[in-house]
Amino acid sequence: MDMNVSQLLRDPIGSTRDFKIDTLIDITSDGKSHKIQGECHMLRTQRSILVKCLLNTEIELSCNRCLGKFLQPLKIKFEEEFFPTMDALSGAPVSLPEDSGAFTIDEQHTLDLTEAVRQYALLAIPMKALCKKDCAGLCPTCGKNLNEGDCDCPKQKTDPRWSKLAELD
Ligand SMILES: [Zn+2]
Ligand SMILES: [Zn+2]
Repeated sequence: MDMNVSQLLRDPIGSTRDFKIDTLIDITSDGKSHKIQGECHMLRTQRSILVKCLLNTEIELSCNRCLGKFLQPLKIKFEEEFFPTMDALSGAPVSLPEDSGAFTIDEQHTLDLTEAVRQYALLAIPMKALCKKDCAGLCPTCGKNLNEGDCDCPKQKTDPRWSKLAELD
C-alpha cells in the first residue's frame, strides 16, 4: 500500500487528499491475503502527514464455542501520523520525533500504509470469536456440533451459580 506523497509534502499545511483503498494485505502473516477496502484521508500537518482510515476486511477465525472456521468481518479504523525522513523541498534529512515507534515516509516520499493497517486489523480481531451470536457450541459429553442438531446425551442442568455468567456470554 505505497502512496507517493511528495506533492502533498510540498503542499501548504492543511492540504488534504482522500483516496479509496482496494487492496490485498496479509494481515496474519500466514501467507493468506485479505481484501482491504475503504477510504483514507490524509492531512498535511506542520511536521507530518496525518492519515485517517476507515477500512473493512474479513478474516478467517475459529469459533471459541464450536471450533468451526468462519469469516469475521473486521472494521479497521485508525489515525496515525507519518513522519517524513527527508524534507520534500530541500532534500535535507529530517530528524524524527522521540517516539521511535513512529511511522515514517521514506526518502522517495513513499508512505506505506501496510504495517499500520496490519497492526490495527490485528487489534480489531475480537478476543472471543463466535461464528454467530447464538452459537450452540459442542456437546461437552459427545463433542457433537450442536449447531447441526441435538445429540442424544441427557440434557445437563446448568448450575444456577453460572447462569448469570452464561447470560453475559
Ligand atoms: Zn460456533
Ligand atoms: Zn452429546
